Amino acid sequence: GVNVPEAKYIWLDGRLIPWADATTHLMTHSLHYGTAVFEGIRGYASGGELYVFRLLDHMRRLEASARIYGFPMRYRPEDLVSATLELLRADELHEDVYIRPLSYLGYGTIGLVFSEVEPHVAVIAFPYGKYFHKEGVNLMISTWRRICQEATPPAAKVSGHYVNSVLAKMEALKHGFDDALMLDSNGYLSEGTGENVFIVRDGALITPPSSAGILEGITRDTIIRLAKEEGIPVEVRDVARHELYLSDEVFLAGTAAEITPVLSVDGRPIGGGAPGPLTSRVKVLYESVVRGRDPRHPEWRTPVYVRGS
Ligand code: PMP
Repeated sequence: GVNVPEAKYIWLDGRLIPWADATTHLMTHSLHYGTAVFEGIRGYASGGELYVFRLLDHMRRLEASARIYGFPMRYRPEDLVSATLELLRADELHEDVYIRPLSYLGYGTIGLVFSEVEPHVAVIAFPYGKYFHKEGVNLMISTWRRICQEATPPAAKVSGHYVNSVLAKMEALKHGFDDALMLDSNGYLSEGTGENVFIVRDGALITPPSSAGILEGITRDTIIRLAKEEGIPVEVRDVARHELYLSDEVFLAGTAAEITPVLSVDGRPIGGGAPGPLTSRVKVLYESVVRGRDPRHPEWRTPVYVRGS
């Protein structure tokens, strides 16, 4: 059934339209060929304010995704920041929200050449809670490999890329796991279906590099920077599959999943099969920074209401 809570409006090409009116034609280019770029952003309610986390950074990545594929972008990242704030205020959202900017190619051709097709940009926002409704997750290594950068660069957050994630996710669920990790075409650890992955060995955080077919997550970047500030060693390097089985801790990091402890991989318990100390520390740190309970990095939090419009 439908499990997206509705909001009042959707921002489309410069104006707010009622949620129910946000429909599109079946000849939409992006629907046939996956030629859209998108973002996933969270807004956190705290002390009567709503803080959007790393809003401009997400809009910049949206533009970068479009640039990688040569898709046109009708709006600058700064314009889309304003659009998002306008939408959240019009919707009067005061609880935790998920924000989905989507830049897509519309009606105009059955062919692949999209230069004649009208580009559109939408910003959608709705109340949103947890992505994983449990304290930790059990993962499998997918039998599907992560898409390779030689064919469809995973550094771009392109709609079509998500067929790869859907294959891995559905396979994992079918086998009784919560989600999957994917290896790159060289057999090194890449990422989850919608999250980056960190392992902990000997007190250091280790995460795969951009060359391992990952989307360079904004949560991943946040964790790397906070860890360095805390004096926690961080290594960005290739991770072999067997290292997962030797890890003291493993966790997922993404906007939707936030920091999610991994309790087992392929049925093998990680650490003691419970969230580890460094994972718990990073999770608490992340949660206090996104809600502004920890005052560090105020530039990462855009308040929706105090600034007025
Ligand atoms: N990898 C993939 C494939 C994703 O879809 C996401 C979610 N955008 C991430 C990683 C994590 O990125 P972020 O932390 O920016 O949400």
